[in-house]
Amino acid sequence: MLDVFLTVDVEVWCGGWRDLDKKFPNAFKKYVYGPTSRGNYGLPYQLCKLQEHGLTGVFFVEPLFSTRFGLNSLAEILSLIKESDQEIQLHLHTEWVDESKKPLLDNIAGKKQHLHYFSLEEQTILIQEGARLIELAGGRSVNAFRAGNFGFNSETLRALSTNHIPFDSSYNASVFGQDSGISPGILLVEPFKYEEVYEYPMTVFQDGTHSLRHAQITACSYQEM
Ligand SMILES: [Zn+2]
Repeated sequence: MLDVFLTVDVEVWCGGWRDLDKKFPNAFKKYVYGPTSRGNYGLPYQLCKLQEHGLTGVFFVEPLFSTRFGLNSLAEILSLIKESDQEIQLHLHTEWVDESKKPLLDNIAGKKQHLHYFSLEEQTILIQEGARLIELAGGRSVNAFRAGNFGFNSETLRALSTNHIPFDSSYNASVFGQDSGISPGILLVEPFKYEEVYEYPMTVFQDGTHSLRHAQITACSYQEM
């Protein structure tokens, strides 16, 4: 028997950064409910499948979008996950930082795609804000984290420690993991402890094109898995 963590990143995108407020209602439906001509295949579908099989998934929920569109939409996501007794944890996409109605940081210089572009102090504030939003919208206090786009660095783990979040799952050897400043030159594929934080790296595999790919259930075949 192989123990695995099934993790899902839950996030909303509006297809560009223009006319956000106009596009949001449809974007929310698309990303959360996943409508298709043959039915809905979004979050409720995934929750239902896990429940059918008696499995628990870890849902890393991105809350910063709600600093623009309001807490209700975040609360709707959290209540779907809570109703299914699945686990809610924190995911952060810093692309939302400059779109917030109230400034999240003192100096916001345009759009920054990855958490590792921010200082330790800024990362600490953003993680704290993300955790606070999850609680405000009806979630419990989180104890695990994944950076958006896996764009973390060693400072992220220190910022998590300051926020009393002991588990991270941002290390992805096929994306930024090897440039994160954690164990330079060594590719990490097993859980490890870095200072005060336990890191659970994404599972990666050699995909036959001389590169690594992470084991994303909807993006690799049964044979590859
Ligand atoms: Zn994400």
